[in-house]
Amino acid sequence: MIEYTSTSERGVSFLLGEKNMAKPKRKNITLACTECQERNYPSSKNPATNSERLEMKKFCPRCNKRTVHKETK
Ligand SMILES: [Zn+2]
Repeated sequence: MIEYTSTSERGVSFLLGEKNMAKPKRKNITLACTECQERNYPSSKNPATNSERLEMKKFCPRCNKRTVHKETK
């Protein structure tokens, strides 16, 4: 008669501890000036929580002023 229950239970909990952590995928985007189309700012966003195109006011070195920057691929 072989006693193996305690060993197999430990093995199961060990396997459960190895379970993959699901990381939210972030998408790399670039923020481009809407006035001169210069791509000034590399960025990233989470498409699950932010599905629309990002729009931010940023300084554009080419326009030499703050302009609206929109998300491009
Ligand atoms: Zn610009």
